[in-house]
Amino acid sequence: MQQYPLHIDGTQRRPREDRWISSDNPYTGTPWAEVARGDDRDVDEAVRAAHRAFTEGPWSTMTATDRGRVLRDLGDRIAQDADRLARIEVQDNGKLLSEMRGQVDYLPQWFYYYGGLADKVEGTVPPLDKKGYFTFTRREPVGVVAIITPWNSPLMLLAWKLAPALAAGCTVVIKPSEFTSASTLELVRLLEEAGLPPGVVNVVTGFGNEVGGPLVEHPLVTKVSFTGADTTGRRINEQAARSLKHVSLELGGKSPNIVFGDADLDSAVNGVVSGIFAATGQTCIAGSRLLVQRSIHDSFVDKVVDLARTARMGDPLDPHTQVGPITTRPQFAKVLEYIDLAEQDGARAVLGGSAAERPECGNGWFVEPTIFTGVANDHRLAQEEVFGPVLAVIPFDDEHDAIRLANDVRFGLGAGVWTSDVARAFRMAEAIQSGTVWVNTYRAVSFMAPFGGVKDSGLGRENGIGALDEYLQTKSVWINTGAPSGNPFVMR
Ligand code: NAD
Repeated sequence: MQQYPLHIDGTQRRPREDRWISSDNPYTGTPWAEVARGDDRDVDEAVRAAHRAFTEGPWSTMTATDRGRVLRDLGDRIAQDADRLARIEVQDNGKLLSEMRGQVDYLPQWFYYYGGLADKVEGTVPPLDKKGYFTFTRREPVGVVAIITPWNSPLMLLAWKLAPALAAGCTVVIKPSEFTSASTLELVRLLEEAGLPPGVVNVVTGFGNEVGGPLVEHPLVTKVSFTGADTTGRRINEQAARSLKHVSLELGGKSPNIVFGDADLDSAVNGVVSGIFAATGQTCIAGSRLLVQRSIHDSFVDKVVDLARTARMGDPLDPHTQVGPITTRPQFAKVLEYIDLAEQDGARAVLGGSAAERPECGNGWFVEPTIFTGVANDHRLAQEEVFGPVLAVIPFDDEHDAIRLANDVRFGLGAGVWTSDVARAFRMAEAIQSGTVWVNTYRAVSFMAPFGGVKDSGLGRENGIGALDEYLQTKSVWINTGAPSGNPFVMR
């Protein structure tokens, strides 16, 4: 079985305690690799390596233009190895090869885009209200960044953080999910082959409490960039506050997909099915609540059910498969618990509602695409993130009612609006409390478009020019151009 050691200061090495975690293939349900189970001493070593690389160079002493060039080379290197990286990801997290290949093919764009931005970070010259001074600002990297990622799209979510952090001049220690660490380690090896100096990017694999906790608390870490569950994010924010670290959090969602009677319904059906069943519902932006106008409720639900029923399940490596397994065994159990809960609350499964027993699903952790009607917005199914292929359908009467239901959750990550009325689309986009609103489309993301949550879905934004700011801090420099310093007891 393949072993994945830690990656610290440019070398691969075994964890101090020589303990390992088995990584399972969600389609076969069997282990395929072992990843190092690091601990606080491994974390300390990795953070010190990142800190040395930050303070001593060559990363920090390189010009921003050279740093940008390295980032663009990294993009090229990833593009050359896209197929291998995608296959490792599929083996580890069970997502479809077709989706993963698309994600990994897209990955270099983050390194090209932020590589291009690296030498466009500019300070300002504020016009001063005081004579005899010249003041300018510098935008400086925050320092050592802890990057903590989840299991659902390990490489893509890592790139969203890693590319801007490196472009800003930071160095990093990555803690990937204990369930899906392999692709991150493979990526970092590639980056160093492509010319990234040792110590700039380090990876300590292991469990959240044994590696993530010590990383968040380490005094030499100045910023924590986290993607994962809201409960974990809250804990990390509290921990980081004790040592006054910068924090950005990309957390969960309970996103509404809102379909008005005047929408192009064929297009809306595709958007709704893709919103919840693509990636087996294991995305933070899953459109897990279908809010549908009461006048078209029954006919539209029938269309969604008819399309979802045709989804081919099975081997994620098979290009014909449309819905793959659940990534982890605990998550599989959690999805089934939510299905039970919805039934106890009186909702009715009009499709699915159980684990999948189809022969093509082998021994994998599969759940049937599931659609519940008769859901009230205060049911737990409508309020809590399931992170699986389970759709809650809720009717609404008019625009006002749709907005009320859409916003009546503690999350605010994404929302879809399906309508042919342009004015309504604008009104809805303004009224919905979420980081992203898609109109007549769903699940579109780009390295150029800011992404993040409001309310319990997180803090900060990834992607777009502004994401660089998450890894920079401003310094003001004052130059005395006038009289020598005068009375020491009077502030000028
Ligand atoms: P998780 O919170 O359980 O784990 C995420 C990471 O945090 C893992 O690496 C884990 O080991 C680590 N961790 C756990 N406890 C920790 C602790 N005490 N200190 C430090 N690190 C700790 O999340 P998950 O189950 O891996 O991922 C699913 C969640 O991620 C869902 O809630 C989903 O919505 C969210 N997610 C959000 C986005 C987004 O961009 N908003 C994207 C993808 C996933």
